[in-house]
Amino acid sequence: MNDYDAIVIGGGMVGSATAALFGKQGMRVALIEARMPQYNLDDDAIDLRVSAISHASQSLLNELGAWQEIDNETIAPFREMRVWDAGVPPESAQAVHFDSAEIGEADLGFIIENRRILAALHRCLDDLNSVAVFAPASAQGIVNGDNNIEVRLDDGRRLAARLVVGADGARSKTREMAGIDTTGWSYEQKAVVTHVATGEPHRDTAYQRFLPDGPIALLPLYDGRCSIVWSTTPEHADALLEMELAQFNLQVELATDRVLGRVVDSDRRAAFPLQLQHAQSYVQPRVVLLGDAAHAVHPLAGQGVNLGFADASTLSQVVADNGVEVMGDLTVLRRYERQRKSENLLMMGSFDVLNRLFRQQAPLIGRARQVGMSLFNRMTPLKQAVIRRAMGR
Ligand SMILES: Cc1cc2nc3c(=O)[nH]c(=O)nc-3n(C[C@H](O)[C@H](O)[C@H](O)COP(=O)(O)OP(=O)(O)OC[C@H]3O[C@@H](n4cnc5c(N)ncnc54)[C@H](O)[C@@H]3O)c2cc1C
Repeated sequence: MNDYDAIVIGGGMVGSATAALFGKQGMRVALIEARMPQYNLDDDAIDLRVSAISHASQSLLNELGAWQEIDNETIAPFREMRVWDAGVPPESAQAVHFDSAEIGEADLGFIIENRRILAALHRCLDDLNSVAVFAPASAQGIVNGDNNIEVRLDDGRRLAARLVVGADGARSKTREMAGIDTTGWSYEQKAVVTHVATGEPHRDTAYQRFLPDGPIALLPLYDGRCSIVWSTTPEHADALLEMELAQFNLQVELATDRVLGRVVDSDRRAAFPLQLQHAQSYVQPRVVLLGDAAHAVHPLAGQGVNLGFADASTLSQVVADNGVEVMGDLTVLRRYERQRKSENLLMMGSFDVLNRLFRQQAPLIGRARQVGMSLFNRMTPLKQAVIRRAMGR
């Protein structure tokens, strides 16, 4: 006898969206999250963790009713994007410029705090009677039987279901318990994040400058500041974390080529080690991986959670097409894997190549890169296709 149709392990953005999608289909779902979801949205300080959300992810959140739960004032649309190499000025012909108006859209995407997305998803879950949230609780073991799969929680409780969904992040316990290996490598980079106030307004534009040690991005925030994601060597990242405020601000100013003038202030700082990681398989009988548990990508294109939301959407569609009774069958789960693996690999490969290409310092490669960017900038149909893809169109 199954307690649930599905047990989702991990209540991050991807796991919560998956539980809500399943719950909307009327399935009985248990969502297990190790941390107590607590969101103090009255705190006006913008959290350090923000995400660039694509139009495809917006549609998914909209379908769930979560988009409507996010205070509109806190959503920062970005309408333009400028990407350039350290060797050229941001306004040069070698800098790539994307404009939403070129493709008849109002914007290219949105910068939103992760905590606001999560809080909105959890409000949707509260309204779904068939979803039970276990938090704080962590999955400690799984026993895969002939007809169902059992999950043991850290407090000794046992839950049974037709399917276990591993959405428990890059260091996924579900993946480990299922014995699924990963391939990948460390980028030997850390991403330093903070928010900065700049001398000039961001004009709803996202900026990314490629430096020899990694890219630095300035993402527009709703209060007029910018979120910084600076990928660099671990040693440099540690030095940036320790740096005195005025010195740090100056370093950001130099690294961004003063594209927004002076950096007049900056917030607290944090750093995240970066790695490329891909699960060798996304599925086993009665087990499926999605989000960072299946693939961890470089943040340079701001696509990690967007890929995870696309996984959730595809899995929910595959289950709807084939029926809840067979949702744990390998043949059904393989349909999800086939659709998502090729897309995720393509994206991972592209971000990896970009990261490597821009770190190459040989003069010939630098020149070729600039010629390539200048050409790309003028190839309107290709450029538009790339934008549409990044938007999830
Ligand atoms: C600096 C930086 C910037 C980024 N910017 C962007 C961006 O702009 N756009 C974008 O799309 N992506 C971005 N990403 C990537 C994005 O943050 C991740 O892809 C996304 O958070 C992954 O979501 P997830 O739900 O799969 O995993 P996670 O967010 O890691 O959530 C996993 C959850 O599982 C829980 N858990 C773990 N183990 C257990 C267990 N045993 N039992 C129960 N629960 C468990 C954890 O507590 C956690 O809540 C960025 C990443 C970094 C590092």
